Amino acid sequence: MIIDCHVHVNNYSDESSDKLTENLNELKLQMRRNRVDAALILTSFKDVPGRPSTKAVVDITRDHPNLFVVAGISFATFTQDELNEIGVLIKEGKVVGLKLYPGYEPFMPSDQRLEPVYDLAAKTGVPVMIHCGDTFSSKGKLKFSHPLNVDEVAVDHPDVNFVICHIGNPWIRDTMEIVYKNANVYTDISGLVLGNFTDRFEKFMHKQMQEMLTWGVEPEKCLYGTDWPISSMESYLEFMDSLSIPQKDKDKMMYENTLKLFKLPLAPENGNSFKNKIPFLS
Ligand SMILES: [Zn+2]
Repeated sequence: MIIDCHVHVNNYSDESSDKLTENLNELKLQMRRNRVDAALILTSFKDVPGRPSTKAVVDITRDHPNLFVVAGISFATFTQDELNEIGVLIKEGKVVGLKLYPGYEPFMPSDQRLEPVYDLAAKTGVPVMIHCGDTFSSKGKLKFSHPLNVDEVAVDHPDVNFVICHIGNPWIRDTMEIVYKNANVYTDISGLVLGNFTDRFEKFMHKQMQEMLTWGVEPEKCLYGTDWPISSMESYLEFMDSLSIPQKDKDKMMYENTLKLFKLPLAPENGNSFKNKIPFLS
C-alpha cells in the first residue's frame, strides 16, 4: 500500500481561475499510474479562486473513500466559526488534519492567537501539519518557517501531534533534533524537488535521509509525501525505491505511519498480499 500524505489541487499557474475539477482528475490519474492507494489533499491558507476551500475539496471528494483533506488555516484571517465548521468535517471523517503555513504568512507557530487551533486539534485528535523550510515563493519570510519554531509549540501542547513538512529542508538537522526529542513531532519528506529528482540531488538527499534515520529519528516518525503537483509522484517513488533501508521501515514510511497518525479508515490488506501493489518491490 502507498499513501501520499501531502498533495495539493491548487492552480499554481493562475490563482485567479478555479481548476479544481481538472486538477482532481489529474491527481486521480497520477495516483492510478503510480499505484498510490490513498492521498491527503492539503488546502491553502489563501482565499482565491485557484486555491479551493476546504469545504469545496471535501464536497468534490465525498465519493472518493481514498482521498482525505487536511484543512489549511490562515493565521491572518481564521475565525472561530471557521474552526467550528472544520470540527464538523473532522467528525464526519473527511478532514483528518490541520495545516499552518508559517513563512508564507509571517507568524510563529507558538503565537497565542493559534490556541483555538491547537484546542481543536487536541479535542478531535487530528495532527497539525506545519510548513517548514524553504518557501516556494521568494516573498516568504524564512525565520517563521524554521523547524526549530515547532519545538516550543510541541512542548507546550503535548496532547497534539505535529508534522514538520518537507523535513524542514534545508534545515534537516534541526528537524532531526526536534523530531527525535519530541514524542509528538513527526516529519514528512514532501516537496524536496520541483518536478523530478536529478541524479546528483537524489544522491545528496539519500545521504541526508540515511543520516537522519541512522542518527536516531525512528522510521515511525517519517511520512511519505510528495507535494504533488510541485514534485513528481513517479520520481518520488523511484527515490524511495533506491533508499537502502529495511523493507519493514519503508512500509512504515510508505503507509503505516500515515494510517496510524491520521487514523485513516483504510485497512491494509492482510499478510503480504499488499506487496504486489508496491511498484518498487516488484
Ligand atoms: Zn505542500
